[in-house]
Amino acid sequence: MIASSTAPVRFAEQHRTHAEGQCAFVDASPSPFHVVANVARALEAEGFRRLEETAAWPAAPGRYYVVRGGSLVAWSTEAATGPTTPFRLVGGHTDSPNLRVKQHPNRSRAGWEVVALEPYGGPLLNSWLDRDLGLSGRVSVRAGGGIEERLLRIDDPILRVPQLAIHLSEDRKSLELNPQKHLDAVWGIGTTPADFTEYVAGHLDVAARDVLGWELMAHDATPSRLVGRDGDLLSAPRLDNQGTCYAGTQALLGALDEASDVVPVLVLFDHEEVGSMSERGAFSDLLGSTLERIGLAAGGDRQDFLRALAGSLCASGDMAHATHPNYAERHEPDHQIQAAGGPVLKVHYQLRYATDATGAAAFAAACDQAEVPWQRFMSRADLPCGSTVGPITAGRVGITTVDVGAPQLAMHSARELMAAVDVALYIGALRAFLAPGVR
Ligand code: ZN
Repeated sequence: MIASSTAPVRFAEQHRTHAEGQCAFVDASPSPFHVVANVARALEAEGFRRLEETAAWPAAPGRYYVVRGGSLVAWSTEAATGPTTPFRLVGGHTDSPNLRVKQHPNRSRAGWEVVALEPYGGPLLNSWLDRDLGLSGRVSVRAGGGIEERLLRIDDPILRVPQLAIHLSEDRKSLELNPQKHLDAVWGIGTTPADFTEYVAGHLDVAARDVLGWELMAHDATPSRLVGRDGDLLSAPRLDNQGTCYAGTQALLGALDEASDVVPVLVLFDHEEVGSMSERGAFSDLLGSTLERIGLAAGGDRQDFLRALAGSLCASGDMAHATHPNYAERHEPDHQIQAAGGPVLKVHYQLRYATDATGAAAFAAACDQAEVPWQRFMSRADLPCGSTVGPITAGRVGITTVDVGAPQLAMHSARELMAAVDVALYIGALRAFLAPGVR
């Protein structure tokens, strides 16, 4: 079996565009809804057309996408030869662990104005302390005789969750954070609480009474950037999993002119960090029904669709753990993952990852085609392993699925770290996966 590569790839000028593109993408995408909006914008610039799930879909081959809340599916049937043409998919998720605003957030305590927050998913809570935080998400408002959805993005650092001073801590117990008590953010000084809804309404130019619902969250207000002695490290929030959202989008756009006899598909799900069980999560019908409708719109029947599905393959992308310099013993010693060592194939025999031999071979072939090094990851057998949308997609839709990712450190921190060159290597591998057999 091909051994994992261990030699790091040097960050060179040709890798810079993608590393900087990744930084810009993350900074423009503080919430899943912004991820979807930014991916949609990139797709439309290349001729993709948004389809509504409530409408009939065109029979003509073309570049299309659908949006369901914080989830998106995009595909091109330009290279398809008919409704039995198999799909080649790259999957990922749009959400990241963070702190979200409670429904009744207004507090005033000890002369401070406070906004009540609570964790979404499994963030490293300590990483959110003493950090300048902005606010983003989507808000449903009453406007123009109906209900409209508005995106909100405030990059000004309006929120801050302060730590307890060490002098006031008993035996450093303040490092243990209670999600109910210790994560509220300060945003002003005063003895009566400021009205959060009014603040949001002011930003959206509506009356507070017309703010009807929201999914709002805090984000790191410090821009992403290249760091390290030679500027070859990438410091950013939400690399898990906007690393895949960006790479997957670039891969799809790059594969358009190369794909033949496949329908390349990008699917990005919301709600991975909280179990994927929602109308738009990986457990929903979003992917299955979209794939079926692609064939039906082209004049195929269910038999054609099932034939297409049987020949399809999915690379489910989610970030991977690079071996940590300070905790190398937490990693399987013979499956060390090298930063700048290229994309990672993830294997877990209890199926926390969906990878099997067939999927692994398809990914190996894609990396070979793209001429990028790649690595095999397994977690220690005596440690639990994270999971991702791969096994869910495989189980829901029945497509052979391989779990892959790019290596990073500090997963689920408010600020994560990866090798800048891995962005370009990851894009290369995913692009080849979407356009198999082309050099
Ligand atoms: Zn993830």
